[in-house]
Amino acid sequence: MPSFSHPTDLDTLFRRVSPQVGRILDKALANRELTRAEAERLFHTQGLDLLALLAVADELRRRAVGDVITYVVTRNINFTNVCYIGCRFCAFGKPARDPEAYTLDLEEIVERARQARAWGATEVCLQGGLNPHQPASIYEDIVRAIKAAVPELHIHAFSPFEIWWGSRRLGISEEAFLRRLKDAGLGSIPGTAAEILVPEVRQRLTKNKLSREDWVRIVRTAHRVGLPSTATMMYGHIDQPHHWAEHLDLLRSIQRETGGFTEFVPLGFIHENTRLYREDGARPGPTGMEDLKVHAVARLMLQHTIPNIQVSWVKLGYKMAQMALQAGANDFGGTLFDESISRAAGETQGTHTSPATFERLIRDLGRVPQERDTLYRPVVRGEPATAPAPRLWQAPLVRQRAVGPRVLAAIV
Ligand code: SF4
Repeated sequence: MPSFSHPTDLDTLFRRVSPQVGRILDKALANRELTRAEAERLFHTQGLDLLALLAVADELRRRAVGDVITYVVTRNINFTNVCYIGCRFCAFGKPARDPEAYTLDLEEIVERARQARAWGATEVCLQGGLNPHQPASIYEDIVRAIKAAVPELHIHAFSPFEIWWGSRRLGISEEAFLRRLKDAGLGSIPGTAAEILVPEVRQRLTKNKLSREDWVRIVRTAHRVGLPSTATMMYGHIDQPHHWAEHLDLLRSIQRETGGFTEFVPLGFIHENTRLYREDGARPGPTGMEDLKVHAVARLMLQHTIPNIQVSWVKLGYKMAQMALQAGANDFGGTLFDESISRAAGETQGTHTSPATFERLIRDLGRVPQERDTLYRPVVRGEPATAPAPRLWQAPLVRQRAVGPRVLAAIV
């Protein structure tokens, strides 16, 4: 028999949100900035408090960018997996003598870029290990070679760790190195290698070879010289919610200063083949609820600074990615074609997503799909693809959706 205390409508139900969480959510809905402590409190929500957090994040997403969900047609080119660093969370980097070690030559890299363009890609994303056996000029050589062959492709390449390494090998400043790469045709850099921007965590993840200060300095410099970047966070290993709050707070302060982040991309830790999990006792990646909370709290924390929150379908899988897109996120990421870094760590979600799959999953949410370029400009594709489709490529490449002026203003 129902108790008289059962709520009889939605308003009553949501009045059961705990007062502390309710106050924080009201503050976010009133467009006021959350503190680090408030973000940390939200990471601990459960039950109705958590549902209310997700609803508020979804509302703030709707206000910021409307109902469009974007994606980019891009190809990953991981040009070498040889790496001398040996980060504990990474199963991609290999010693040079490892039987699985590989390095693509310039011709192969350019051929992959050509294929990507022929398949309809507007971007190639290049990252690799820190390989002492490649020439010091390799980063610039790659950019020049791709630009010479496929000038219209946007080159999104080289993490802050690679910028740190490349500049030291050439014996020039990071700023001079970034300017040189930009002059060669580099369009933007991935904001990877951020992991968790808290020294006590980084020391265990990367042996502190790239410190928080290094990462922040390189990203700020990239933005200053006109190279935008993504912003990322790898969570679900030896980290805790207060580290996530500190990380988001730092990204927010950088963005206020430079405006150079195009999006924030939460990256759940893929644990299976890593020493951090097998030997160091790290957690086996985030739980589903942690995934949702990270996307939702990011929307609340970053609502006035970074408009785009991207889901990583490689890490989340399609089903959880759809949930995160209902919890503050608005971008589905890229087609990738050749994802290999998460796969090396044990991920099995696949290496490629076609535009048709993105569109099906987006429409299933009652939202509007829109292909975009790296800088979140809607892509108008006048010509169909000319090359034979890769094995998993099933969709026609011509797509243009009408999006409202408010959304366009927000994403251009
Ligand atoms: S994360 Fe990057 S720098 Fe670290 S071991 Fe892997 S490839 Fe090397």
